[in-house]
Amino acid sequence: MKTALITGISGQDGAYLAELLLEKGYRVYGTYRRTSSVNFWRIEELGIQNHPNLELVEFDLTDGGSAIRLLQTTGATEVYNLAAQSFVGVSFDQPATTAAITGVGALHMLEAIRIVNPKIRFYQASTSEMFGKVQAVPQKEDTPFYPRSPYGVAKLYAHWITVNYRESYGIFGSSGILFNHESPLRGREFVTRKITDSVAKIKLGKLDVLELGNLDAKRDWGFAKEYVEGMWRMLQADEPDTFVLATNRTETVRDFVTLAFAAVDIDIDWKGSEENETGTCRKTGKVLVRINPKFYRPAEVELLIGDPAKAFEKLGWKPETTLENLCKMMVEADLRRNERDASF
Ligand code: NDP
Ligand code: GDP
Repeated sequence: MKTALITGISGQDGAYLAELLLEKGYRVYGTYRRTSSVNFWRIEELGIQNHPNLELVEFDLTDGGSAIRLLQTTGATEVYNLAAQSFVGVSFDQPATTAAITGVGALHMLEAIRIVNPKIRFYQASTSEMFGKVQAVPQKEDTPFYPRSPYGVAKLYAHWITVNYRESYGIFGSSGILFNHESPLRGREFVTRKITDSVAKIKLGKLDVLELGNLDAKRDWGFAKEYVEGMWRMLQADEPDTFVLATNRTETVRDFVTLAFAAVDIDIDWKGSEENETGTCRKTGKVLVRINPKFYRPAEVELLIGDPAKAFEKLGWKPETTLENLCKMMVEADLRRNERDASF
């Protein structure tokens, strides 16, 4: 039986990856952080929390010594490093914490591999945020990086240290440069899920207005469940490498809002510009979306669109779910949750 370790199992990708690896017959160790009230809602929603081949272990990525013990005790031969302070907005307020977890955390895992068993295969969760300020369209593996947030800078360190351990010590370290990927399990601080949850609440009369920041930002949004399959394929390849996973389609935040309201049969009419822009219901004239500058970022990533050709060619990976279907799936899940639970 193959044994895998996933850091960050309480997150969106950790939950989907655990589900995938369990389906493939792996023994899975998933790490979570000690908090006063641990929350496993994602693996509960997937129904895998009591799976006999899943073991949850307490771990903090900032503790290098415990990374070594973790590899010694689990005997994992594949390590997926998904844990991170993953929210760009927070990284501007907590840049040092972000650097310690998201950047140096990857180094702790790689050092532990070097010490415990250099044959362990390592996946690093890199990000399109490393491309940041547009240098080329679409972005691919050899596009120059220009991160625009402490999160992007920390991830760039983690990416290069993975490449460096591959080249210096022959460690099988692969880096997946994943463009934004969403799902009903996405955290509510991220824009897509904030939108789908708010649209569900507006439809059910639990919220009046959705407040957002920059509506012009363009993102390449895919479905998370398909992207974790790409992570797994990277570690089954003959050689470690760097791969972009993306859909090659980009849309604005405004377009995603329009799609989400369309999923509950509300037609949005956009009026005004910049800070005064509003989204109104075409039928009733009621303002349902407005700008709140508190959601603007000190520096913005304006345009992300990825070229996943290498992943298709070398891994046979390609995305299937359209943005329309992804958005609808998320709105429907949020309608169900909001209907079921009054305090949700
Ligand atoms: P989430 O924010 O949903 O999950 C992050 C996970 O990291 C959580 O389980 C969190 O635990 C854990 N974590 C945070 N800090 C620590 C720490 N100090 N020690 C141990 N664990 C910690 O992210 P996603 O699942 O969406 O993303 C997975 C990875 O992929 C992340 O590294 C992210 O940066 C990266 N990525 C994501 C993209 C996306 O669009 N989703 C795009 C590209 C890259 P807790 O629940 O306790 O907070
Ligand atoms: P990111 O690409 O990792 O930063 O993912 P997010 O989902 O956090 O943000 C995607 C884009 O949406 C960014 O360009 C944000 O500036 C923009 N955005 C606009 N309004 C909001 C908002 O209210 N919350 C968040 N999280 N992002 C917003």
